[in-house]
Amino acid sequence: MRLLLFFSLLIGTFSSNAQESNFIIKKVTVFDGEQVLEDMDVVVREGKIDAVLKSKKKNEKGLEVVEGKGKFLMPGLMNAHVHAWAPDQTKEAALAGVLTVFDMMGNPFSMQMNKNAAEKAQHASYFSAGFGATVPGGHGTQFGLEVPTIKSDEDIIPFVQARVDENVDYLKILYEPLMEALTPQQVNALIQEAHRQELLAVTHISFLENALEVAEFGGDGLVHSWFDKVASDEQIDQLAESGIWIVPTALVIKLYLPLTRKNFDVDVIDEEGLLENIRKMYQADILLLAGTDPPNAQINYGTDLYKELYLFRDAGLTPIDILKTATSNVAKAFQLDDRGLIQPGLRADLLLIDGNPLERIEDVEKIERIWKAGELVED
Ligand SMILES: [Zn+2]
Repeated sequence: MRLLLFFSLLIGTFSSNAQESNFIIKKVTVFDGEQVLEDMDVVVREGKIDAVLKSKKKNEKGLEVVEGKGKFLMPGLMNAHVHAWAPDQTKEAALAGVLTVFDMMGNPFSMQMNKNAAEKAQHASYFSAGFGATVPGGHGTQFGLEVPTIKSDEDIIPFVQARVDENVDYLKILYEPLMEALTPQQVNALIQEAHRQELLAVTHISFLENALEVAEFGGDGLVHSWFDKVASDEQIDQLAESGIWIVPTALVIKLYLPLTRKNFDVDVIDEEGLLENIRKMYQADILLLAGTDPPNAQINYGTDLYKELYLFRDAGLTPIDILKTATSNVAKAFQLDDRGLIQPGLRADLLLIDGNPLERIEDVEKIERIWKAGELVED
């Protein structure tokens, strides 16, 4: 009897703790991933957004109240291009409000480790390509890790199958003629094989010519913009018409421009050209995604994503469209229907900001509270 009482007390304690993760954010300005809604109440229950309503005076019973007046609520940020090997990296991301990251080349071991860590609130959700498709001596083989390569056309189907067996989330293709490289035919075959296996195919490129080829092959995304020239309007239209989305990775390209100019005998644009390409993509309605490619150029997994947003501002994106590049656009591109928006039924990946990034994009630095699937993210 006493034991039973003890247990019921214990259960009582647990259930009241669980209650606390149900909350209402009152009178907050909401950017829901698409538009701005003023003076809203957002209810979160069991890790999901339960309701988004015009603010009411009376309090909902059994909900912890978070005062949102004068504050700004937006979906958790996403970084569409990282290389994360250790859980402290996805933790650095989450603590900066970057609640979902997309790894663009790792290995099955680090992939599993990061996916396991992602079950905890302090670590970003993690999606991964696993090994990228490249050739012996090609880009991706120079980092001292043993990686599988494509030695002949016959290797393409087994390569994609091996990634499927490793449970990757999409296929990454490295198309980099600055080193040994896949042929255009092989890039095309990889894209078709990925699609046959119902995987998105995303491609690393450096040159405009290659970007146009990948678009023509039906590639889903480019995980860099090119850095050799400013595209003509016709070329941008070709990209736009293909429906390909682009992660410009402006920050890492900007930081590497001087080095690239010094080390390679190829055309290299300057920062103005880089921004002009992004401006043209934007004006042609190409879906743009924020990604920074850490740890390249010593870029971190967290706050450095904000710098990518500032470069988008410099390229002429409106504040709302800048925020979309790190939220709803990423979900759309990777076909994730559980995040990227503040809508009933979706994950409660939320950032409460003591400012308004639509008035001043640098206000993303004023994140006050972060929830991942309704759980508070704290160090
Ligand atoms: Zn990368």
